[in-house]
Amino acid sequence: MITTVLPTYNRAPLSFVKGEGSWLVEADGRRFLDLGAGIAVNALGHANPELVATLTEQAQNLWHVSNLYTIPQQQALADLLVDQTFADTVFFTNSGTETLELAVKMVRKYWYDKGTPRATILTFEGAFHGRSTAAIAAAGSEKMVKGFGPLMPGFKQLPWGDMDAFAAAMDDTVAAVLVEPIQGEGGIRPLSEAELRILREACDKTGALLVFDEVQCGMGRTGKLFAHEWAGVTPDVMMVAKGIGGGFPLGAVLATESAAAGMVAGTHGSTYGGNPLACAVGLKVTQIVSDPAFLAEVNRKAGLLRQKLEGLVAAHPDSFETVRGAGLILGIKCKAPAGDLAVAAREAGVLVVPAADNVLRILPPLNIPDEDIAEAMTRLDTAATAYEGK
Ligand SMILES: *Cc1c(COP(=O)(O)O)cnc(C)c1O
Repeated sequence: MITTVLPTYNRAPLSFVKGEGSWLVEADGRRFLDLGAGIAVNALGHANPELVATLTEQAQNLWHVSNLYTIPQQQALADLLVDQTFADTVFFTNSGTETLELAVKMVRKYWYDKGTPRATILTFEGAFHGRSTAAIAAAGSEKMVKGFGPLMPGFKQLPWGDMDAFAAAMDDTVAAVLVEPIQGEGGIRPLSEAELRILREACDKTGALLVFDEVQCGMGRTGKLFAHEWAGVTPDVMMVAKGIGGGFPLGAVLATESAAAGMVAGTHGSTYGGNPLACAVGLKVTQIVSDPAFLAEVNRKAGLLRQKLEGLVAAHPDSFETVRGAGLILGIKCKAPAGDLAVAAREAGVLVVPAADNVLRILPPLNIPDEDIAEAMTRLDTAATAYEGK
């Protein structure tokens, strides 16, 4: 008999009743160190007092009004994002998937308005852009699309990081290039700064729009507010979600004035997108995370975590292979099955997230205390030792 909750997830036998910083507490009282942070969502940890206060205060005043009216919290968050980034304008959504939908519409409208419509958006294998029909067509992996055809046309996948294939595919039928600067679900696979610059140069040459999906790697995770900043290039359109709401559902599409020019009144909308509750919290998260002192701390913690992870990998050559990624979006490429190691970690009281390519993702809250990093590494060491003894 089918479960009352549609069984689309293989769920671990845990149900948490409370979160405190980088800790999750199970119904039976067991405490787990959370190195997954809701898959890079709880950027400031669980039950962050500043976010609780912001959410509570907003809840006592106004939860929701329609986008038929001006929403001051939304305006303030858009102003801050524009101030901090390449963007001139922002649209708010409730999820990452919805940012993909708008990004695709924006690209299509841009070319429609130019009078020379271009159909193809180049993407990369191993990508993840969400689970809507457009988002699975964009990523194109068999695992996501099988059984869900006919797929939305207009996407072409290239081998991950294959710059020759990219150069060959880049002609003036290409409307846009859509890429995660660091693939998340694909196994924490970063494009190099040089590769990001090649994408930008090629787009400049053909006029294609460059769309970065920073839903997982953005919002301070790499130690800059957005991952692409390391490469010194900017996109035309950027998708943001996950960390920006700190746990409250919120996403945003950021764009230049030129890329967004076609999105006039009536071309797009959302009932909930950018509502007062979400934007009050998103504003607080963005104010905290964009502070240079906060980002400096992310970088310091990232150095500490990376060093300890390298030590862990060196101590367990049968289980682990290498560490990759940047800042606090790290992946341990495993030798043993990553899923089994994630279970062993859970049994040792630390939560990590498996990804493709046999990788364990390490995505702690950006403000994880140093002592929690140390404790998490002790627990991962215990987990690997226990796994190897089996
Ligand atoms: C999670 C994710 C999405 C989809 O976000 P949802 O909020 O689950 O819809 C899109 N792109 C990337 C890179 C992601 O990691």
